[in-house]
Amino acid sequence: MTPTLAQITKELLKSYNRFPRKRLGQHFLVDPGVLKRIINAAQLTKDDLVIEIGSGLGVVTSELAKHVYHLIAIEVDNELLQISKDVLSSFSNITFVPKDILKVTLSELSLGRPYKVISNLPYYISAPIIEKILTAADKPELAVLMLQKEVAERMAASPGSKKYGSFSIFVQYYAEVALNSLVSKSSFHPWPEVGSAVVVLRPHKTPKYKVKDEKLFFDIVHAAFQQRRKKIRNPLAKFKLEDCGIDLNKRPEELSIADFAQLASGD
Ligand code: SAH
Repeated sequence: MTPTLAQITKELLKSYNRFPRKRLGQHFLVDPGVLKRIINAAQLTKDDLVIEIGSGLGVVTSELAKHVYHLIAIEVDNELLQISKDVLSSFSNITFVPKDILKVTLSELSLGRPYKVISNLPYYISAPIIEKILTAADKPELAVLMLQKEVAERMAASPGSKKYGSFSIFVQYYAEVALNSLVSKSSFHPWPEVGSAVVVLRPHKTPKYKVKDEKLFFDIVHAAFQQRRKKIRNPLAKFKLEDCGIDLNKRPEELSIADFAQLASGD
């Protein structure tokens, strides 16, 4: 019988005498159905360059690498990277990068070529990684990300929903967001403490919203959501936004991103 992903993962850890490091968000994906969903969502082709963030033991990496032209695996835990090099020794299309994703720029990995990002994210830094992807000078064509269900829901939330807030606006300002699927704790080894979800981000090729001053725009969004149950009039008073055509008696969750863009641009 072919071993399951869970068996392969546990055997690898045992034979290298390693335990998952929770501090580094090490929860290995062991569910082949979920892996398939990720691969389908990424629409991989033989022309693709993929950057995999947090490649871990290389079990997911090996499935991805079969479908693409080249894969760049970045992993901060050197021991895991060594294990994955053994696991993936038969592949000639993988570059291993022993670095912290937050300390590199994506374009120094992609070298200006079009690329996709795929990651079962380390959850403790999912927000800064998403920020890095979305504000990169060279953004990926798409990113397929596994992250906490709660964070995924906030990213995809629309106005009027309880989860809609400044993070929804930040993400949707830069990208189309699609919640692909929910993933249960039992799809990982070891189980994470929270439920998970797969999200697909497609960065806008040209800016979707007309915003003259992005800093002002995000400052206004943050200030408005400081008190999400209250009218925006008071928290936004300091910005002196008068004739902007937006009703200042509304609550922040009632405003679309275009409304906030209008507030920030005054036209
Ligand atoms: N891709 C593997 C592992 C996912 S767990 C799988 O799906 O099974 C998240 C991985 O991110 C871990 O291997 C962890 O070591 C790695 N990681 C944590 N912080 C990182 C950072 N700052 N930069 C790069 N990788 C990181």
